[in-house]
Amino acid sequence: PELVTLHDISKVFANGVTALAGFDLSIRAGEFVSLLGPSGCGKSTVLRLVAGLAAPTAGQVTWPGSTNADHRSEIGFVFQEATLMPWADVASNVWLPLQLRGVSRRDARERIAESLALVGLEDFAKAYPRELSGGMRMRVSIARALSIRPRLLLMDEPFAALDEIARFRLNDDLLRLQSELGCTIVFVTHSVYESAYLSSRIAVMSRRPGRIVAEIPGEPPGPRP
Ligand code: ADP
Ligand code: ADP
Repeated sequence: PELVTLHDISKVFANGVTALAGFDLSIRAGEFVSLLGPSGCGKSTVLRLVAGLAAPTAGQVTWPGSTNADHRSEIGFVFQEATLMPWADVASNVWLPLQLRGVSRRDARERIAESLALVGLEDFAKAYPRELSGGMRMRVSIARALSIRPRLLLMDEPFAALDEIARFRLNDDLLRLQSELGCTIVFVTHSVYESAYLSSRIAVMSRRPGRIVAEIPGEPPGPRP
């Protein structure tokens, strides 16, 4: 079933830049879709539209299976920089999305621990972001996004700032996480390698103004043999 559909979207910013024009994309439940395209083609803008952080200038974002009220609360977002609160320990960072939904620290305890275990950081709940490597900080960001058990995980070039080894590890971990949690992932990248390795479908975008120019089937979902 279709989770979210973007139909004939255009996005023109206040400064006159047209980021997207005639953009069409449909995301089905359980997919791992990579949005692949050159810098500035509008990939981040697409994620922001899906997350409801920005509105299209024209066109529609529709959620066939859910009411408007529930889909926003089911989205996890991972940004390129691990935007952690430096003054708070790892567990508090992972708690944040739950806290914003009114879940007490006590009620969140188990979920925080499970989320950290999913990314292999169960022993680092009391550590502070500055004590962790770049790869570990990104894992905390992923645990934070997963703490609400999102139906849809949006990832905006999450591993771009990491060295290759950390990237390879996280790529494999992400495939394992998806098969364990069964969530849908939209993954923005300009890496052909990453999109080919990770995705069950690659959506290729044109230069700005961005639109989908090709869709390429990738690997079936699940961890690589
Ligand atoms: P990508 O993620 O593919 O690099 P973005 O979606 O970030 O591309 O940006 C697409 C285009 O829109 C770029 O030219 C960018 O400079 C421009 N842009 C993005 N956000 C804004 C904004 N808030 N105001 C004006 N222009 C913007
Ligand atoms: P980066 O590539 O940014 O350095 P990694 O995730 O590859 O990040 O981790 C770098 C180092 O951090 C590892 O060599 C290891 O010593 C330590 N580390 C990472 N994850 C764990 C973990 N789950 N438990 C213990 N140490 C870890």
